[in-house]
Amino acid sequence: MLNLVPEWTYHYGEFWKAIKIRNLWFIRLRYLAAVILFGFFITGEYLFHLNFSTEQIIAINSISFSILLYNVIVHSIRKYVSTDPDKFNGLHLSLIQMILDLTALMLLVYYTGLIESPLYTFFIFHMIIGSLILPGYIIYMTAGLISCVFAILTFFQRYNLIESHFISGLYLGPRPHTLTYDILFVIIFAVMLFISVYIANKIAHQLYQREQQLRSSLEKLNEAEIAKQKYTIGIVHEIKTPIAAVHSILELIKNGYVGSVSLLVEEKIKRAELRTEEALQLIKNILNISKLRLLEIRLTDEINLSAFIKNILDTFSDLAKEKSIALIFNDNTNEQLFIKSDKILFELVLSNVISNAIKYVEKGGTVDVKLDSTEDKFIIEVCDNGIGIPQKEIDKIFEQFYRGSNINRTIHEGSGMGLAIVKEIVEKLGGIIKVSSPSRLAVENRPGTNFGIVIPIHYKQNEYDIFEVNREDYLES
Ligand code: ATP
Ligand code: MG
Repeated sequence: MLNLVPEWTYHYGEFWKAIKIRNLWFIRLRYLAAVILFGFFITGEYLFHLNFSTEQIIAINSISFSILLYNVIVHSIRKYVSTDPDKFNGLHLSLIQMILDLTALMLLVYYTGLIESPLYTFFIFHMIIGSLILPGYIIYMTAGLISCVFAILTFFQRYNLIESHFISGLYLGPRPHTLTYDILFVIIFAVMLFISVYIANKIAHQLYQREQQLRSSLEKLNEAEIAKQKYTIGIVHEIKTPIAAVHSILELIKNGYVGSVSLLVEEKIKRAELRTEEALQLIKNILNISKLRLLEIRLTDEINLSAFIKNILDTFSDLAKEKSIALIFNDNTNEQLFIKSDKILFELVLSNVISNAIKYVEKGGTVDVKLDSTEDKFIIEVCDNGIGIPQKEIDKIFEQFYRGSNINRTIHEGSGMGLAIVKEIVEKLGGIIKVSSPSRLAVENRPGTNFGIVIPIHYKQNEYDIFEVNREDYLES
C-alpha cells in the first residue's frame, strides 16, 4: 500500500493522533460545507435573484447530497482505520477525502460557470488543507492534475465541446473571452495553486520538524533526570553507610558494651543517637523519592480496599493508644471493593498521612479516616483535630523539606519529606491530593487538618461483576 507517512516522522503515537484529529476536523467542516452549499443555492435564488437552470439545480443538489453521503461514510469508518503505515490508515483516508472533495468541487465549479465561477478559489483552500496532512509530492501532483483538468474543461468549453453553465443573474450573458484571457487565467490559476502548496507545505514541514525536535529534547531531559536520580541514589547511599555505622557504635556505647558510661555521657549519646536516626530517616526519604522517579508504576496488586486501610490503621493503634487518640475508620463503601494498584506505594501514601495526623494531634484528640467510592474513583479522607496548618502555608506543605511554622520541632521530629513523597505517588497513580485547615473536626484551639485523596480505579471487582475502568477517560473527565 502507498506509504504516505513522511520519512522524518519519529514519534508515531503523536503523529497518528494529530492525523486522527485533523480528519475529524475535516469531516465536521464538510458537514458545514454541505449545509452552506444548500444555503448558497437557496440564498442565490431568493436573495440575489440568480437564475439557476434545471440542470444546475439538479447538479448542485446532487453534489451537496453526495458530499453529505460520502461524509457520513467516511465519518463512520474513521474509527476503524489502522495506524500501520503499510495498511489502510488515517493518511489514506485523508487522501480519499481529498480526491472526493476535489472531484465534487470541480463539478461544482463546472456547473457554476468554470472560469466565471466564483467558487474556483476554494481549490486554493483545499490545497492548503491537503498540504497540512499529506506528503508534498502528492499535493504537487494533485495541484498539477487540477490545473490540467481545469485547462482542458476551459478549452473544451471555449470550443463548444462541452456545454457551458454560467450563472444567469450574475452576468448578463455568456461572457466573450479572447483566447489570451483564457490562457492567462489558466496559467495564473495554476501558479496560484502551486504557490499556495509551496508555502503551506513549507510551513507544515517546519512545524512538524519543530514538534519532533521538541519531543526529542523532552526525551533527553527525561534521560538527564533519570541520570540525576541515579547519581543522587549513589551519593546518598554512600552517606548512609558511615552514618549507620556511627549509629550502631553509639548504640554499643549506650548499652555499656565498651565500658560503663556516666549518666551525663549517656544522655549526650542518646541525643546523638536520635540525631543519627533523624539523618537516616531523611536519607531513607531521599532514596524513596529518587527511586520513585525512576519507577514505572505497576498496577497489578489486587487490594481489598477496606481491609487494606484497616490493616494500616492497626499498625498505628498502639501509638494512638499511647497518646489517647481516638482512631476511627468510617467505611462508606457498601461493597467488597477490590482494586488493582501498587501495594507498597499505596501503603506509603496512607501511612505517611495517617502518621502525620497522629503526630500533629495532641493528647485526647481524634483522627478520623473515611473511605468513599464512586463508579470510577475512590476517595480517602484523613481528618484530625490537631494543631492544624497556618492558612498561608497550606500551599507549601507538599514541598520537599517544608515544615509548618506552628510545629514544635523538639516534640515533632521529622524531615519535611513525607508529604512530598505522598504527592508524587498520588500523582503517579493518576490521582490528586488536597489539604484544608481548619478541618470539620475543629474545636477551640485545635483547628485540625483534612487531607483528601482521590484516586481513579483502574480495575474494580465487586460481588457481581468485574470490569476495567479506562484511566485516560477518567483523566480527561
Ligand atoms: P517527615 O518527613 O518525617 O514526614 P514531616 O511530618 O514534618 O516530616 P511532612 O509529612 O512532609 O513532613 O509534612 C510537612 C509539614 O506539614 C509538617 O511539618 C507539618 O507542619 C504539616 N502537617 C502535615 N500533616 C499535618 C497534620 N495532620 N496536622 C498538622 N500539620 C501537618
Ligand atoms: Mg510526615
